[in-house]
Amino acid sequence: MAKIEEYVPIVGQSIIDDLRLLAEKLKGKVIQNINSTSVGGGVAEILNRLIPLLRELGVDGRWDLIKGGEQFFGVTKKFHNALHGRPAEISERDFDVFMDTSLKNVEEVNIYGDIVFVHDPQPIVLIKKKAANKWIWRCHVDVSNPDKRVWDFLRGFIVNYDAAVFSAPAFSQHLPIRQFLISPSIDPLSDKNKELPEELIDAVLAKYNVPKDKPIVTQISRFDRLKDPLGVIEAYRQVKKYVDCRLVLAGGTAADDPEGIKVLEEVKEKADKDSDIHILLLPQNDIEVNALQRASDVVVQKSLKEGFGLTVAEALWKAKPVVASNVGGIPLQIKHKYSGLLCHSAEGAAFAIKQILNSPEYAKKLGENGHEHIKSNFLLTRHLRDYMLLFLSLDYQEDVIHL
Ligand code: UDP
Repeated sequence: MAKIEEYVPIVGQSIIDDLRLLAEKLKGKVIQNINSTSVGGGVAEILNRLIPLLRELGVDGRWDLIKGGEQFFGVTKKFHNALHGRPAEISERDFDVFMDTSLKNVEEVNIYGDIVFVHDPQPIVLIKKKAANKWIWRCHVDVSNPDKRVWDFLRGFIVNYDAAVFSAPAFSQHLPIRQFLISPSIDPLSDKNKELPEELIDAVLAKYNVPKDKPIVTQISRFDRLKDPLGVIEAYRQVKKYVDCRLVLAGGTAADDPEGIKVLEEVKEKADKDSDIHILLLPQNDIEVNALQRASDVVVQKSLKEGFGLTVAEALWKAKPVVASNVGGIPLQIKHKYSGLLCHSAEGAAFAIKQILNSPEYAKKLGENGHEHIKSNFLLTRHLRDYMLLFLSLDYQEDVIHL
């Protein structure tokens, strides 16, 4: 894994010096992160890089997981969908299942942090163990329009935290605790984002039998309805009438997402054996994701809802033209017609993809602007700084803010 000094050529010495100064002030504090999965999805992706770098800077960052069975993750998936405003039938029994597992975790998870940093709703009930330490709830999902019943239920726990962190301004909520806006980030030196030799990119395409004879349009996402893979196929079909191309729909399933296999089946059915649609069930392999993004002529992220949308940042960092929905954190990353193209429908996505495939110069400019925008705003070093400032600010929080 890359060391902190290796970021100097990318972001400059002064940014790294600032990180060292902040880290110095956090010496002696234990920062305990808690979430529900160590692989799959954006949260695990970020923690896997942030924690080692915090530690290298001398901050005692640690990471623990809660435990849960199939039923529990079935319910938290329903919560996730409901928070995103999608109708979900949640019964009283679902809330009981959630509480049963949560209370087991309250008993079993060892809390030792001076600062306990809880990610997403799955471990939220752990706040029952709050003592003299500081607790932060980090919300990675789009809660701009949450189902009221689920939000009110979670809110009962959130209000006991010292602070809440959201990824985009539109997600902030009426809460009697301090709220911070911190966007996620990508690591330019991770296997997911580092430069790759052309031969390696070709080898990954060959492994998945994707020929390079036509432009490649790609969406890489968990097979999840909110990522709208069926909408991507619709957009591709409209593009295909005018520009010959291939569609790569690639993704794995996260350990805490029981719906994935079902969605994958629906995608296969919709693709209807079109040999130019490549549906790839990926193993957890960052180099392969990196290679597929780099091999693409257009990267699509047609989500119906999105927390931040790391895949967008990853593609823009690779200077790819991106077509993505105007939801969640995506408009923070894409300024329409400057650092990518935003869309609101399958038709809109198709129009934008066609435009990019037909105008290579324009496509190149969008990608270059996107790269610069990510470099200035969404790299891991900025994220580390924001988190350290947040941890430090907790010591200066005596007044409760009433909104
Ligand atoms: N990802 C991956 N393999 C896959 C699908 C996704 O490694 O098969 C990664 C993707 O590159 C990104 C993260 O998982 O880093 C997904 O984060 P995002 O914010 O886009 O969506 P989430 O899954 O958190 O809703």
